[in-house]
Amino acid sequence: MSTNTTLQTYQMRIGAQWREASGGRTRSVLNPATGEAFAEVPEGTREDAHAALEAAFQAQPAWAALSGVQRAAYLKRIAALIRKDADRLARLVVQEQGKPFFEAQGEIGGTSEFFEYFATFARAPMGEILAADTPNEDIWIRNVPYGVVVGIIPWNYPAALFSRKVAPALMAGNTIVIKPHEDTPLSSLALAKVVEAAGVPPGVVNVVTGAGTEVGDALVRDDITQLITVTGSVRAGRQILEAAAKNITVVSLELGGKAPFIVMDDAEMDAAVRNAITARFMNCGQVCTCNERTYVHRRVFDQFLERYVDMASKLRMGDPMQPGIELGPKVNQVELEKIERMVGRAQEQGAQVVLGGKRPQAEQFHKGFWYEPTVLTNVRNDMDIMQQEVFGPITPIMPFDDFEEAIALANDTRYGLSAYLFTRDIQHMMRAVQAIRFGEVYINKIGPEQLQGFHTGYGLSGQGGDDGAHGLDHYFRKKTVYVNYGDTPAPNLMPYPN
Ligand code: NAD
Repeated sequence: MSTNTTLQTYQMRIGAQWREASGGRTRSVLNPATGEAFAEVPEGTREDAHAALEAAFQAQPAWAALSGVQRAAYLKRIAALIRKDADRLARLVVQEQGKPFFEAQGEIGGTSEFFEYFATFARAPMGEILAADTPNEDIWIRNVPYGVVVGIIPWNYPAALFSRKVAPALMAGNTIVIKPHEDTPLSSLALAKVVEAAGVPPGVVNVVTGAGTEVGDALVRDDITQLITVTGSVRAGRQILEAAAKNITVVSLELGGKAPFIVMDDAEMDAAVRNAITARFMNCGQVCTCNERTYVHRRVFDQFLERYVDMASKLRMGDPMQPGIELGPKVNQVELEKIERMVGRAQEQGAQVVLGGKRPQAEQFHKGFWYEPTVLTNVRNDMDIMQQEVFGPITPIMPFDDFEEAIALANDTRYGLSAYLFTRDIQHMMRAVQAIRFGEVYINKIGPEQLQGFHTGYGLSGQGGDDGAHGLDHYFRKKTVYVNYGDTPAPNLMPYPN
């Protein structure tokens, strides 16, 4: 990284090189808190995408030939270097993405933990041996790496999502090309520097910055790519799935969410309110597992609403770099305008704004992409605000009359990532676990997800999944081997003449 008069200039990582884009163009990176450009990165091209894949392809056999223990040693070194540099990396996340500093510190902690966690698979079983039908034979089902993986990531966790993909891909013996989001490329580039400093051979981890429709599309369509893992919007997921169809490339998709947050009348009210607030407003509502629609039993609705509005109104919004700040800006202008439109549309459809519903007026918010914490009531489940992902600091809250109605409302969605239930009734807990059609259910608690879990969505929320042993398994394909080790050749059981 070098610094000119105003902008820090970054390069991208392809093989052993730090380079400009082949077309020579750059793209500015804005600070969402001020709307001002503070850095620029190469605007990668299709040629750059292919060059990165080629580098990953060249590096892969030697990387896969290392033992698990040797690969894990690199992962542990990366994790340690991230921890050593945690505050600087956290500041970079705040600068390019806008979450409060304490949240960015948490994100960087998680970024390191992904490497630590996947390193624990160093001595894990690498397949199974099955009994064969005939004597002196085995059937092996071996885990083998795909080869070259493409990881496409969004802007909401620009550091943690890098490691959520890079760590398991590397542990499994793959090499990878990461395509960060256009708005938040710096965390990936900074982490690529950490990977380099950890001594990981060139080509094992590559980062190409640029547009999804250019660099992302080229990475997805290339013949070298053997596995694509995406975190992003449903729109991008669909486009990538279509593009991957050309080569029948395997795709894992972690897409949007529309999490219901159900509060029964026997719930511990304080915990329910506090958790509902955190699950909505963390990262300015920009988390795929966020509380996107709150359903509260009618018997406790007024009490819940009053406390929720009171707590939301007291959230400290401001410069995300400052201590004590709980709510930062939206990530960019397009996202800000999108949520403004969504609130306007909800009002047209009959929703009532009981808190916020606009950009903040104070002078410190004149620049940047700010929106007030917002609560909507008088909502129905067929409104857009209850059906489309908001991804912002806006809570629609709706009453229900009984448990069955709450479950029906929760399931009335095309998404299926996370769902929340607050109750003290064990029967309701168990029935909800059975009846809720979501990949991840939280009972009397909220996230974040844990490393050993499995983050997987149904419906529009995606296919495949991340984390834990199941997540790692997605980075392997299987090779089945039939072995005869007897003195005589295996009998030919087919009815052909010998
Ligand atoms: P986005 O879809 O706009 O971008 C995601 C990435 O895809 C970016 O790197 C982008 O450049 C790339 N991309 C876009 N179009 C492409 C194409 N045609 N070909 C190849 N690459 C393409 O998403 P976003 O706005 O950055 O992220 C927000 C979304 O991510 C939300 O919907 C959120 O719910 C989802 N998300 C999901 C999870 C999860 O684990 N399920 C986690 C975080 C975010």
